[in-house]
Amino acid sequence: MTLIPTASPRANINQRRLMRDLNAIGRIGIGDHGAVTRLVFSIKELRSRQLLIHLMRQAGLKIHIDAIGNIFGRLDGREPKAPAVLSGSHLDTVIHGGKYDGPVGVIGALEAVRTINENKIPISSSLEVVCFIGEESSRFGFSTLGSSLVAGEVHPKDLTNAVDPQGTKLEHVLASLGITRRNLTSLKRAPKGLKAYLELHIEQGPILEAKKKRIGLVTSIAAPSRFKVVFSGRADHSGTTPMEMRRDALVASAQLIEYVEKVCRKFSSMEKGRVVGTVGAMKIEPGVINAVPGKTELSIDIRSTTARSKDRVARMVKRRAQEIASARAIGVEILPIREEDPVPLDKRLLRVTQEICDQKGIEYEIMPSGAGHDAMQMAKITPAGMIFIPSMRGISHNPLEWTDPEDIGLGSQLLMETMIRVANE
Ligand SMILES: [Zn+2]
Repeated sequence: MTLIPTASPRANINQRRLMRDLNAIGRIGIGDHGAVTRLVFSIKELRSRQLLIHLMRQAGLKIHIDAIGNIFGRLDGREPKAPAVLSGSHLDTVIHGGKYDGPVGVIGALEAVRTINENKIPISSSLEVVCFIGEESSRFGFSTLGSSLVAGEVHPKDLTNAVDPQGTKLEHVLASLGITRRNLTSLKRAPKGLKAYLELHIEQGPILEAKKKRIGLVTSIAAPSRFKVVFSGRADHSGTTPMEMRRDALVASAQLIEYVEKVCRKFSSMEKGRVVGTVGAMKIEPGVINAVPGKTELSIDIRSTTARSKDRVARMVKRRAQEIASARAIGVEILPIREEDPVPLDKRLLRVTQEICDQKGIEYEIMPSGAGHDAMQMAKITPAGMIFIPSMRGISHNPLEWTDPEDIGLGSQLLMETMIRVANE
């Protein structure tokens, strides 16, 4: 008869190995001033995924790669047919990003699972390390691509306006991988095969550092409403066109940008449901010094952990765009990019991690996430939880992104202990 120890077995992750692998991934796509660029479906991103596959193989994991390139590395439990506990994140980055947004969650999960394997810690459910493809929206304006497909959450209408700056349509890229509008749910994982999803991630905000806490336990994830506003005025000569005869699309845009800031500031208290809004990109035509701007295209992102506040602000911004356009006698068009609702994370998983922190005397903060993550898609098909570690000065999506290696190690250790408990309960 074999005895399964009931107490959580002691094992420590190897922080040096964790940092070595994290730094190896961080060198792929590195450029000036330490900026890292690994856009979805780029050669750089592919190389980082190849390195991960190599590391997973070394760790003795069984590897499965789906049609779009999501990678799953599996360690079988004592009951291989039981639902699996998944943990991971992404390896793609924004343009000129940092080393830790994403890779911390992938390599942190790999370190957790290989420590469990090396120490022969008994686990009932299988464990899987996951790398989702295309979490960042920098290329197509479409975030959490890989996890959305795994959750069966990509809808044909989501693809309509997903185009990269070179004009490549996401829909065509997917079709070339065998994922057509008709079989968008072909990569969906059956919920009955999943027990939980856990994600370790840097906070990307200043709260943990300010409160001197090393761990954040996430309650919910804010979700964006994203849309484009296109103002169509008239391109005229900048010298010969009198001010009163102009149809300047850029001045209209400036008014709208200011309005986004103003209205979001009104929703800055937590009680109302804090809303943040950003006009992060704009195209100007013709975009030359000697012409009145005839056409502009603004990309707007509005987020909150409260769906009602987010939707209200999005509606106000769209209405204001119409008013500005009619007052200036120019055209306006509103093109939806993606509408998502804020996602609550699993309370029971949060409690498990909280108990482990209490037992170990780790100070933690219970907090929402303002940024989107793969966990928000996975939460639609399985209980999902997230562990945050501090970001220096809250800086992220920037080469200055930095987290203390001790905190990365602690996050991976906590993730491992949570995975063991969840897999065995
Ligand atoms: Zn991320």
